[in-house]
Amino acid sequence: MIIARSASELKAALESKQGSLGFVPTMGALHIGHRTLIEAARRDNETVVVSIFVNPTQFLPGEDLSKYPRREEADFKICELSGVDILFYPEVSAMYKEDEVRVIAPDIRGYILEGASRPGHFDGVLTVVMKLLNMVHPTRVYFGKKDAQQLALITQMCENFFMDIEIVPMETVRESDGLALSSRNVYLNESQRQEALKLSSALKEATKMVMQGNIRGNEIKGAMLKLLEPLEVEYVAIVNRQFEALDEVMIGNTIVLVAARVGPTRLIDNVWM
Ligand code: AMP
Repeated sequence: MIIARSASELKAALESKQGSLGFVPTMGALHIGHRTLIEAARRDNETVVVSIFVNPTQFLPGEDLSKYPRREEADFKICELSGVDILFYPEVSAMYKEDEVRVIAPDIRGYILEGASRPGHFDGVLTVVMKLLNMVHPTRVYFGKKDAQQLALITQMCENFFMDIEIVPMETVRESDGLALSSRNVYLNESQRQEALKLSSALKEATKMVMQGNIRGNEIKGAMLKLLEPLEVEYVAIVNRQFEALDEVMIGNTIVLVAARVGPTRLIDNVWM
């Protein structure tokens, strides 16, 4: 595995590679969710590139940038064992200069739900993903459905900027009790981890209601909010794949989302129907 720490090192590493290239961008502290993306990239492509970069521009002031978990040694091992060809591991200074051109998230879709809770977050996400895609030039790029709004906005960015890259959405990987894997789960103590299960339980209830024929948004959201008590809920939402609010679930074109705080830790989860 080649470790590239700058744009020029990455370019040199990519020069000898031929055929299709699968790319998995991450912020590190890798878990089985990330590994599933890497394994899919390994299966589908001749070359696999993973990036680990805790992108400062997507964190708002007061968020967990400085304490975001960093696990360099373990992450390198996981990448090596997963058959990654090139690990891109840049410093902030290798990615950003002063007073730069930025990508701006769309006015509506970029500022609802996650974008309302974290205004400007998606500008940072889209800017860094644009940079990474231009550096790696992948055939396919792999993103988790867990970050559904991020996935939708990156898909839109690739369309709006006529970028010829295949985006591969990947299912959310969960613990056996339902908790969606997240690098931020390490912030949870034992009792908070128990509380965190309320997110996936609420989503399970939503699925159950729909399977029983109740597709009414208000009733589904009401039942979810009850199960989420006493957590501090930021939003429960039912949208279509374009992130337009829905009054009723449309099977095949619906995402039910939740964001809530468990103690100081902000968690998100969703289910696609
Ligand atoms: P992150 O390191 O949190 O920026 O995540 C990197 C990629 O892994 C993103 O595309 C995430 O959506 C994806 N990811 C994170 N958690 C999971 C999970 N539990 N299952 C599947 N993909 C995930």
